Amino acid sequence: MELEATITERRRQTRNSIYRHLYESRDFCSKQSLARDLGLSLPTVYQNLTELMHAGLVRNSGEQRSTGGRRAMGLQIVPDARYAIGVSITETRLRFVAADLQLEEMAYRKVHHPPIAEMKDFGIFLAGELERFIDETHLDRSRMLGVGIALPAVIATDNSRITLAPTLHLRDITLQFLAKEIPYPTYIENDATSGGYAEWFLYWHRDMAYLLLETGVGGAVLVGDGQYHGVNRRSGEFGHMCVEPGGLPCKCGKRGCLEAYCSAWRISDDLGIPLSEFFAGVERHVPEYETMWHDLLRHLAIGVNNIRMVLDCDVVLGGFLTQYLPPYMPLLKEYVAAGNPFEPSADYLHLSVMRRHTVPLGVALHFIQEFIETI
Ligand SMILES: [Zn+2]
Repeated sequence: MELEATITERRRQTRNSIYRHLYESRDFCSKQSLARDLGLSLPTVYQNLTELMHAGLVRNSGEQRSTGGRRAMGLQIVPDARYAIGVSITETRLRFVAADLQLEEMAYRKVHHPPIAEMKDFGIFLAGELERFIDETHLDRSRMLGVGIALPAVIATDNSRITLAPTLHLRDITLQFLAKEIPYPTYIENDATSGGYAEWFLYWHRDMAYLLLETGVGGAVLVGDGQYHGVNRRSGEFGHMCVEPGGLPCKCGKRGCLEAYCSAWRISDDLGIPLSEFFAGVERHVPEYETMWHDLLRHLAIGVNNIRMVLDCDVVLGGFLTQYLPPYMPLLKEYVAAGNPFEPSADYLHLSVMRRHTVPLGVALHFIQEFIETI
């Protein structure tokens, strides 16, 4: 019995290595190239491919290339064989994304709602909007792997509750309140952790600190094989580093936090205008807007500098605020470099590769990775 189990597991690993090779390959793949690249016999490759095709996970790509005088048929994975849903929760809006196995966006929907702390049962509302998203975008429930939920909250190390979520005005609340009405597998994670992990896993592949600039400011530390969580799962809470002692009040109750200076809230709350209008004004040199923007950039530079001093790795900026940052990166880097005694330039500072819907896509990745591991 034990031997049988070993053989089965070995067979599964072979099938998995074939699938992963096709998943990760950017080049033309055929039965012959798979056998060669993975050091497998052709019959083994045939047999496993038949299984994978039968399961609807692999298909002929339709492309043919001649290799050594013979025509070889191209192979590829079926990206939408399964999908996962990612939900990003902020104080007044939900963002839903459906992502295929290659983390490509299949559908997106944004929903506005009253502040969560004022809603009677947010869990019921969330579950209802989730079903509506699936129905309206005609997604096939039988192919769905699960629902990832990301929110700006510190989640307890035992995964049972939210210890603190300043921008949502929540404190010490069970995770059940979010997921209890959802009839699919769920996974709940901090928003910056989700975004940072996806960015690191898909594109960066080296040590990095991720600084998420959204309604709130968060972060993640990705070193070695993955995320450094910290003892209390609060590593990378860059938003509450003090960048101005006694400065602007923060939603956490303290003063002078990076979040108080660099969140999208600061712009929309103080000025009462959408971000697009604000940045159009900055471009037109509206004095009030320009002053605030430069103040924001200066404090952001202090934050980036502190992160670099502590971790000595790349710093990657993500989140929806970064879509407005490209024209101001030279200036931001100038501010950053001015505060660093070791480096004349801030070449380690980057904008994230994923610009759109990073957080919901990032939290959906959990189920996609899990699925690929089990093939
Ligand atoms: Zn704070």
